[in-house]
Amino acid sequence: MFAVEKIRADFPLLTQKINDQPLVYLDSAATAQKPQSVIAATELFYTQQNANVHRGRHSLSEQATTAYEKARDKVAQYFNVQSREIVWTKGATEALNLIACGLTEQLDKNSSIVITPLEHHANIVPWQQLALKTGAKLHILPLEADATFNMSACIEFLKQIKPTVLALTHASNALGNITNLSPLLSTVKGFNTITVVDGAQGAMHLQPDLNILNCDFYVFSAHKMLGPTGVGGLYGKYERLNALLPYQTGGEMIETVSLFNSTFRDAPAKFEAGTPNIAGVIGFSAALDYLSELDKNAAYDYEQGLFNYAVNKLNEIDGITIYSNLEHNIGTICFNYKDEHPFDIATLLDGFGVAVRSGHHCTQPLMVHLGINGSVRASFCFYNTHQDIDIFINALHECIALLD
Ligand code: PLP
Repeated sequence: MFAVEKIRADFPLLTQKINDQPLVYLDSAATAQKPQSVIAATELFYTQQNANVHRGRHSLSEQATTAYEKARDKVAQYFNVQSREIVWTKGATEALNLIACGLTEQLDKNSSIVITPLEHHANIVPWQQLALKTGAKLHILPLEADATFNMSACIEFLKQIKPTVLALTHASNALGNITNLSPLLSTVKGFNTITVVDGAQGAMHLQPDLNILNCDFYVFSAHKMLGPTGVGGLYGKYERLNALLPYQTGGEMIETVSLFNSTFRDAPAKFEAGTPNIAGVIGFSAALDYLSELDKNAAYDYEQGLFNYAVNKLNEIDGITIYSNLEHNIGTICFNYKDEHPFDIATLLDGFGVAVRSGHHCTQPLMVHLGINGSVRASFCFYNTHQDIDIFINALHECIALLD
């Protein structure tokens, strides 16, 4: 038995009322709620530990530096990689931009970049910009009409293109679909392809062992892993990482500066110009502690149970179309009711205290691929309950009665 009530007691926000109803938070794909330990660690930093990192010789600064670097060690441990392969950024978006900008000198008009129609805009636009800057050609992996992978067709496509860069998501934020990464990554291994995985959704639910996954880059967002907003980062295989151009320049990332020239430090410092989000990193460190104490397998099974329960309940409603892959999913359901506008459904659900997302979910090309303008998205985390789903489904029935 997964002790969900014990878990919920760690998340103060979940006891809130919204519109006089108990909150049912089904928007964890947008941002996860934070356990008290994360909130406390952030507060403690500002009340007792605040100092800048790396440049001080006084005790507070040394303590802040130690805590900041220890957090890097924890992320490295979480993904089973080396600490020097982890770079802090303000989120997955910045991490993807850092990689794409850093590759500018490695690509030219003979290069090719492959992405999929599933991607979040954060894993599309930086590659479009890189293609514009370098003359590289952008290719789209051909997916099925329901946005699932026909693996043999995709493998054939990759063999033909031999991409310079392959960037794809670990799990879709709109659909929750999990990408079967291994066959795709191993197909391009012989082509010296730079492989980039967007782990914004996968990092917490799927906790990949990056040593085994063997991609070159993997990006993550702390706020989707129970940590604060404004923090995230990337893993980069050290040689690939160190070969990137610096994304930003300034203090901290330099070795020497004269008035007309500068030299840069090696990764990860080379990519961390300026004062970082120290409190955010320390809050994230507490989130990683929380996740390390959680029985991850039990949490995953529990989330899958919630997902299946909700899918079955939704399927009982005439007029509901579900777009998500139901077999390989992190626990996110993308659906519509007849041709009702998703905003209307989300707004009505909010009146019942149910928080879901609606719209294109920063995946406009995916919506076009699916032939829809947008959808409603309910995303689950291990702090949700079956009762949450019952409330959501009852509220949905009420919304439908109003709309029909
Ligand atoms: N990639 C995916 C799959 C996401 O779900 C998100 C956020 O929703 C991002 C990238 C961007 O993450 P952030 O906004 O934290 O930078």
